[in-house]
Amino acid sequence: MPQSTKYVFVTGGVASSLGKGIISASLAKLLQSRGYSVTIQKLDPYINVDPGTLNPYEHGECYVTEDGAETDLDLGHYERFLNVPTSQLNNVTTGKIYQTVISKERHGDYLGKTVQVIPHITDEIKRRIKLLGTKNKLDVVITEIGGTVGDIESLPYIEAVRQLRWELGAGNSAFIHLTLVPFLSASGELKTKPTQHSVKVLLENGIQPDVLVLRTEKTLSQDLRRKVALFCNVEAEAVVESIDVKTIYEVPLLMQKENLDSTIIRKLNLEPKGEPKLEDWNKFVNILKNPKSRVKIGLVGKYVELPDAYKSIVESFIHAGAANECKVELSLIQSEDLTNTNVAEKLGDLKGILVAPGFGHRGIEGKILAVKYARENNVPFFGICLGMQCAVIEFARNVLGMTEANSTEMVRNTPYPVIDLMEAQKGITDMGGTMRLGAYPCNVKKSTKAFAAYHKADIQERHRHRYEFNNLFLEQFEKAGMTPVGFNPDTNLVEIMEIPSHNWFVGVQFHPEYSSTVLKPHPLFVDFVKAALNFNK
Ligand code: GLN
Repeated sequence: MPQSTKYVFVTGGVASSLGKGIISASLAKLLQSRGYSVTIQKLDPYINVDPGTLNPYEHGECYVTEDGAETDLDLGHYERFLNVPTSQLNNVTTGKIYQTVISKERHGDYLGKTVQVIPHITDEIKRRIKLLGTKNKLDVVITEIGGTVGDIESLPYIEAVRQLRWELGAGNSAFIHLTLVPFLSASGELKTKPTQHSVKVLLENGIQPDVLVLRTEKTLSQDLRRKVALFCNVEAEAVVESIDVKTIYEVPLLMQKENLDSTIIRKLNLEPKGEPKLEDWNKFVNILKNPKSRVKIGLVGKYVELPDAYKSIVESFIHAGAANECKVELSLIQSEDLTNTNVAEKLGDLKGILVAPGFGHRGIEGKILAVKYARENNVPFFGICLGMQCAVIEFARNVLGMTEANSTEMVRNTPYPVIDLMEAQKGITDMGGTMRLGAYPCNVKKSTKAFAAYHKADIQERHRHRYEFNNLFLEQFEKAGMTPVGFNPDTNLVEIMEIPSHNWFVGVQFHPEYSSTVLKPHPLFVDFVKAALNFNK
């Protein structure tokens, strides 16, 4: 039987953070725009079951899928590039693999056998790679292996891929290795030796890469490419240059110029389908490179030293900026630094203020000050998850006179628990995977900022929280001018809060940033940027 789903594996060598996720997403985009069905999977070699319990400083943002998986931020790139939702299956961790194998062992499924890394762990890895392709009947699955080749923890993944390639047979899989070609300014030379060593490590593990993608600051000469090809046993055309660019969204276009997609199509013996249709993509990149105007928006959060902690928000602003033909200049503001005396100076030149999601007490008072500044000065305001909760606390304290109002997440016995633990969360003791996660429906009231953005009443948005607006206070808020305008139809949980008398003041309990893509910028981000552009004109 001919192999229906074809597999591409992507590894990295020499250094971490070379952009395997972007290369994988770019290749997927090119294949998709030729008409192949494709998805991307990330294998993460850490022992956490998922990144949900990781501090964002460790690993950047935790991305949430529609079906409620807490995943690696690379899945965000996959969705933003492909405009197709990912799922639980798209992110596998060592923790998940071991969890499955150990529970099977406890169940007695191994019938007295000694349970070992090979074959049991590697079999579970292979099962999860294949499941994605067969379940969704895809033409191509691109599997990205996290970490750097040579790391102890990625060895079982490399071995699983080696076996899988052998099982799939020739022409059914391709292996891409991404490395760095450093430029030594002292000698004025690009160096290929680290790439050669990295490929050697792969060869020691039984894998001959088919394609090498070389990350570089300077253009690679034909000679250099030929040298790498010769020493690493790959075709000269399969040595691909990935030069630094201003925006990640240019990478698919660069990879097309380098023929990465046609090389992979050839290696996989895929039926030819014509050239990639990239008109919309090209248009988007052109706007990014030639914006008609600029607008300065502040992102107030507590992880601002690591912008990856807010990856999806940062990217949503790029999409929404392009939709408004402008460039959003994002100013990252540490909420811990905001005080009563400096808030006007620190936020004074912003045309819009976004207060970020987050957990725990640190930085919360600064976020509340930022909300107050936006509310009192009519500056367009967007609060996401904890950002909305801060808006509620601020309004309670400064408009409703409940000076000690708080979320019970911050002060358990506050006299005014305007944000409180959700009923379903009470009694939960395990921290991992137990929040309200994934997509839930919401009804949006007409004649509101939110309705004007969505143009519809029935929406679905993704969530990641334990606390909610306390409906006991609903009437008081509404009377004083902060209105709940979006509700979950099943639980009556408040999903959107607005101040109708304000220029543009929207707080949402959900995370719109997870579903903004290049081809479908999120409507709330688009309208928030529009309000910022019009502010004080
Ligand atoms: N910590 C808040 C909660 O759990 C907000 C979560 C968030 O911003 N994602 O409800």
